[in-house]
Amino acid sequence: MLKAIEEYDELGREVFLSRYGFDRAQSYVLVHEGREYDSKAIAGVAHKWTQGRALPAGDFSGGKDHAAAWLRSLGFTVKVLKNPDWVWDEVILACDLVASNGWHELDANDQRVRELSELLQLLPFHGEDVRGEKFRNHNGVARKTADIATRHPDYQGKATKGGETDRRVLREFLERPEEMAQAARLIRAQLAAGQSPVGAPVDEESEEEYEAPEGRLLMRRHRARERDRKLRQRKIDSVLGKGGTLACEVCGFDYEAVYGDRGAGYVECHHVVPLHVAGEGTTKLADLALICANCHRMIHRKAPWPTPAELRETIVGRRSAGGDGPVG
Ligand SMILES: [Zn+2]
Ligand SMILES: [Zn+2]
Repeated sequence: MLKAIEEYDELGREVFLSRYGFDRAQSYVLVHEGREYDSKAIAGVAHKWTQGRALPAGDFSGGKDHAAAWLRSLGFTVKVLKNPDWVWDEVILACDLVASNGWHELDANDQRVRELSELLQLLPFHGEDVRGEKFRNHNGVARKTADIATRHPDYQGKATKGGETDRRVLREFLERPEEMAQAARLIRAQLAAGQSPVGAPVDEESEEEYEAPEGRLLMRRHRARERDRKLRQRKIDSVLGKGGTLACEVCGFDYEAVYGDRGAGYVECHHVVPLHVAGEGTTKLADLALICANCHRMIHRKAPWPTPAELRETIVGRRSAGGDGPVG
């Protein structure tokens, strides 16, 4: 690390960054002996001495907070320049507040803004490492309510800047107000119940494959329920008990028929009612569907989720229209 810092000092910022292909730090910097350094670049170049080669810029992209966390673990000081962008779940909570306020922005001194600010501190999506002093403070939350309120179609004036996530979450709220309000309630309930403690590992890659209008927190919970082995086995037993097979309810794909012993007994379990509609509670076997991995992905890929029957209609329709589909 110190060698990397030394090299940085020798070459100067621009040369150092361009030599190793890093951009100027946007979110946080490393502070060493009163000077600031682009932390990702320093961490990447430090690998040259520890691992034999410099870690290219792209290698840090998988975990955006990785470099900061690593540097802190080594005892270095990392200063946050810019707080992380708001993620989907955070915007859901803000949007819900704006909606309950008649789609008007709220003031930083409003008690509800203060409460939301506290709640946002509990969400597990941004590690402590990347949170600056002003992370989701009252002013920041109030500003976000303005970003959302000024994007509402009824708003007459000019929209404040805001981001793509604001626009998309607002659209979900306008299209499905009750579901989204329910999603916000459930996110709050989960945070209150401490089911997603701060710093809980976020499986970003697998979560981002799914477009989840109800947010990542609820989606994660939904998938955990679907992976419940006991529940899955009860569903399988009940289907077999009635003389059924484990063929996909949507497309008819049968793992055992195709893969033989390797596929015997395999099928995925899909919870037909999204958590933000059903709420927590005991799962009824009738709410579960046995479907293949392909169809399961397709259901979760875009909101709102089609029911297995609806997805089946889609592929049957496409096949009769000349498309290919393995519907059995
Ligand atoms: Zn299928
Ligand atoms: Zn599912």
